[in-house]
Amino acid sequence: MTDIIQLLPDHVANQIAAGEVVQRPASVVKELLENAIDAEASEIKLIIKDAGKTLVQVIDNGKGMSVTDARLSFERHATSKIKSAEDLFQLNTKGFRGEALASIAAIAHVELKTKRPEDELGTAIEIEGSTVKSQEVSVTPTGTSVAVKNLFFNIPARRNFLKSDTVELRHITDEFHRVALAHPNIAFAFYHNGSELFNLPNENYRQRVVHIFGNKTNEKLVPVEEETEVLKISGFVGKPEYSKKTRSEQFFFVNQRFIKSPYLNHAISAAFEGLLKDSYHPSYFLNLTVDPKTIDINIHPTKTEIKFDDEHTLYAILRSAVKHSLGQFNIAPVLDFEHQSSLNTPYSYKDKAASAPAIEVDRSFNPFADDAPSTKQYGQQKNHKKAPTASWESLYVDLESKGNNSNDDFSQVTFESDAKTASIFSDSSVEGTKTTFQLQQKYIVSTLKSGMLIIDQNRAHQRVLYENFLKHITIKEATSQQLLFPLQLHFTPNESNIIKNLKSDLEHTGFVFSGLTEEEITITGVPVGVPESEVSIILEQLISDVENDVPDTNFSTTDLLAKSMAKSLAIKNGQSLNSTEQEHLVNSLFACKEPNVSPTNRPTFITMKVDDIEKKFM
Ligand code: ADP
Ligand code: MG
Repeated sequence: MTDIIQLLPDHVANQIAAGEVVQRPASVVKELLENAIDAEASEIKLIIKDAGKTLVQVIDNGKGMSVTDARLSFERHATSKIKSAEDLFQLNTKGFRGEALASIAAIAHVELKTKRPEDELGTAIEIEGSTVKSQEVSVTPTGTSVAVKNLFFNIPARRNFLKSDTVELRHITDEFHRVALAHPNIAFAFYHNGSELFNLPNENYRQRVVHIFGNKTNEKLVPVEEETEVLKISGFVGKPEYSKKTRSEQFFFVNQRFIKSPYLNHAISAAFEGLLKDSYHPSYFLNLTVDPKTIDINIHPTKTEIKFDDEHTLYAILRSAVKHSLGQFNIAPVLDFEHQSSLNTPYSYKDKAASAPAIEVDRSFNPFADDAPSTKQYGQQKNHKKAPTASWESLYVDLESKGNNSNDDFSQVTFESDAKTASIFSDSSVEGTKTTFQLQQKYIVSTLKSGMLIIDQNRAHQRVLYENFLKHITIKEATSQQLLFPLQLHFTPNESNIIKNLKSDLEHTGFVFSGLTEEEITITGVPVGVPESEVSIILEQLISDVENDVPDTNFSTTDLLAKSMAKSLAIKNGQSLNSTEQEHLVNSLFACKEPNVSPTNRPTFITMKVDDIEKKFM
């Protein structure tokens, strides 16, 4: 038998190594930005095209490279940052593995231009798939520019694996945020497809946070400062009332390196204990400085996890520092959330003071009273129209301004299952007889000819709302309820962009926008039945749904919007319903096209046949 083991050729080894370093365009962004920081740049420009799939370019004014270093920088394990294993324990640089440029060059077309301040002329190198195509003397400014084009050009499987531009851009923006937050003293600019997304001057930390997350962030921030022998903490936590449903504003930096640490995150949650509503997360932007000897950042290839020598101590210090800040800024005493949410909403209405109570009428109105063609049969409608006044009526705006009753319009849309509604219920379900009851404030139980029906109230209502929203969006007409005072909501530029993309669909559900800038969204009308207090939650939920599952086609955008709104507005488990409401929900459900499943494909009801029940008694 001959020997069979071979050394892999360099370009193959590089491609394999690249898999670990470069998962997506955002990984390239991170590596290049970090190299620019390690080169002591004071200004860094990030330019991307097509969410980085076509181009990722980083230009810095740092210390540049000599001709030899420029060529060597693409070799694997070539680094200027450590010389021996001991250096690993006092790292002051982001990079140290010497793998990034080699890996990137293995799977993309790379153009490097670089010049040191002391040199007249610089160097330009072109590499494609680890092969050097050209190396020339070049007239170029001091610093370095690395352009990475056509990522994964030689690994089609990886290229196909990339997500939509929106998702990839989101990842890139996340990386950009992390790096820019860790280095407020460096100026950053970020362009995507020719338009400027960020332009951040050299500034202090508070200004940097506010620049990235929007002007309104300023009033949310509570400073946290603490210095002990082992740990220095500086930065901000968000006031509890500005906590978010998502974890998108949680940042830990250790020695100016972004890290993820569930353990330290827990310390913050512990400090906020009793201050947050269920499923809300505090915002934080915290910089921890520790002796590099006491941490090991070598445990994860993408380096967002690190190991601390003495985690328990850090935990305790962090928790007490945050608690102290919350207390000092008088946040802890204002704990009554039931109270607070109505007094102090996280958004501001313009000119709110004068006559706000008029809008209270809306609060008593049950969202699902209006959502089905069959509404009229039941008491709900009466309920919501009680004591109509001229001004109340004028709050309704028919978007198509046909002036006729919108219910008539909806009734033109017929459902295949309409016919079934009458017959599946037991004969005894005549007017006046109670045919449903609620179990555990979660299920609605009803009788069928053949047995028993158990409906999950939350899923059922999601189905009803979902089909309704879909219908409204598709036929492009919905009734809108005008707000007495415009509602101003604050978002990050990224979030506003998502809303902007969904604007016309949102309008078809009944939202009316009067202003939509990078920072602020002004809403003057909402879909009928949507309580004003829910609007910010609905939009936040929608943004996070879009970020997690970005639709590529129009069809799925509509679908996602309808699902998201249905999820936000559906009757929750634990909510008690009177018998009229129960019946109305049951009827609305069976008037749906697909009553059997929730919008996310979970069963909405189960049935139990009399036969099955009888068997249980044997
Ligand atoms: P690492 O950052 O782990 O050292 P890289 O592959 O990212 O490895 O970079 C290799 C080397 O190339 C770096 O150690 C540095 O000397 C040099 N280099 C890379 N980018 C730059 C830059 N923007 N400016 C100056 N030198 C750079
Ligand atoms: Mg590097």
